[in-house]
Amino acid sequence: GRVLPPPDYKMQIIIIGDSGVGKTSFMDRFTEGAHRQAYSATVGIDFKVRRLDIDNKTVKMQIWDTAGQEKFNSITTAYYRQARAAVVMYDVTRPATFQNLRKWFTLLETHARTDVSKILVGNKTDQKENRVISTEQGQRAAQEFGAEFFESSAKSDSNVFSAFEFIATDVMKKM
Ligand code: GDP
Ligand code: MG
Repeated sequence: GRVLPPPDYKMQIIIIGDSGVGKTSFMDRFTEGAHRQAYSATVGIDFKVRRLDIDNKTVKMQIWDTAGQEKFNSITTAYYRQARAAVVMYDVTRPATFQNLRKWFTLLETHARTDVSKILVGNKTDQKENRVISTEQGQRAAQEFGAEFFESSAKSDSNVFSAFEFIATDVMKKM
């Protein structure tokens, strides 16, 4: 096979948030450019990799997708501590997933590096009829938790790449 030159930067990114918000779809969209319709809860912790070229530098992004654990909250601290960035995701059609954000940000504060880049993502914006959490509500929450804010649709491929591009650029600044 083809041997890739070593990347200029390597970073680990975690995706957390309630079950069903679209974490795995978001990761798959970025790493594979596909949307899975069928719902299958992730078992254990899974990761996928994608390389991005930014300002003539190659960035290897290793994305950790949580699951199973998400309901029990017993996520290993090592997994959090190695992350340079954390995507905290909710579903704009399900208020409970938005109300649970505090829980996820508290876990980050407890277990992640103090300089972890935090990105709040409201996913499923394609579901216009069913949206209950407004963009303004999302922005306010992001401000409160000290996170950058994006709204996305993993299904219709909206803003997924932009969010990861922001992450790569933001983390590179701190390396
Ligand atoms: P996870 O449990 O957070 O990993 O969520 P999944 O990625 O498994 O997605 C849960 C369900 O939501 C699946 O049926 C996905 O197809 C669906 N889904 C994920 N992202 C979107 C999106 O942006 N829009 C819509 N309409 N459905 C989505
Ligand atoms: Mg999943």
